[in-house]
Amino acid sequence: MIKMKMNCVSGFYFDTINTIQALCDKTILKAAFSRCKYYEKLLSRFERDSDVSRINHAQGMPVTVSDETVCILKLALYYHEISGGAFNPTLGVVSSTWKQCLSEDRTPEEQTIRQMLLRVTFSETEINGNRVMLPAGLQLDLGGIAKGYIEDRIADELREAGVQNALLNFGGNILSVGGHPRGDAWSIGLKTPFGTDKECWAIAACRDSAISTSGVYERGKTINNIRYHHILDPETGFPVKNGIYAVSVFTEKAVDADALSTAFFVAGVEKGAHLLKKQDALFACLMEDGSLVKSPELRLDMGRE
Ligand code: AMP
Ligand code: MG
Repeated sequence: MIKMKMNCVSGFYFDTINTIQALCDKTILKAAFSRCKYYEKLLSRFERDSDVSRINHAQGMPVTVSDETVCILKLALYYHEISGGAFNPTLGVVSSTWKQCLSEDRTPEEQTIRQMLLRVTFSETEINGNRVMLPAGLQLDLGGIAKGYIEDRIADELREAGVQNALLNFGGNILSVGGHPRGDAWSIGLKTPFGTDKECWAIAACRDSAISTSGVYERGKTINNIRYHHILDPETGFPVKNGIYAVSVFTEKAVDADALSTAFFVAGVEKGAHLLKKQDALFACLMEDGSLVKSPELRLDMGRE
């Protein structure tokens, strides 16, 4: 009998490092991972001819896009609605402005940002079959949901190829296929905010499930001792400031964990906890003051429990 070996692939897509380790032949793994390139070409707003770029530059006119783009847009609309607008994937103009300003070590004028928050909303997007019309002035930024969606699709492909043990990590969004080849669950470290890659504040068990973390430390810049991170309050266009340091969300599908962790972060602990309860999802939220708020049912290994 040939003994199967754990293989690992990694690459830079979606502006982050993506890794898959799996107990399977390297060709199967490489074929699944090559889908990253396909999705980047489809969903990135920085790829000139992607579906998302074509929608963003259509000035309110309908655009024909692929089934997959329709699927992710419907999911994004769903999360926009159930989060009361906290999850808003149409802040592309605002997030580009922040990115540019922070790269020049400055912050944008409040007035400039306010003018970018238009009266039109994502809910006014029309989807008829494969024709999508985004209201003029809005720009899609699927950074809060795309990685999770893509992980689910790649995990489906791995399962179809017969893979029973795999772990996907796309920029901190974790998805497991089965458990660890040893037989137990995968042990996932929840990163200590601003710590080194090896520092974790807790370990979570993951088996056929997903964990997504949204936090202030992930992307952004500190200017004059103020942290400007990448998750924006749709009401103000400024980075969310509500006392949350990082929130990890635990679900079965990666797309749900991804969208819900962003939504929770924006909505705040009270509304976020309510939203997650209704969605049957669990969370662990680290606050700036060092306290922890979590779903009572969630089991974590904190080295002292
Ligand atoms: P995550 O790290 O999954 O929480 O996603 C953060 C990314 O989602 C950002 O880098 C933006 O691309 C995008 N984003 C920022 N603010 C929001 C928001 N309020 N709703 C949805 N997506 C957002
Ligand atoms: Mg997210």
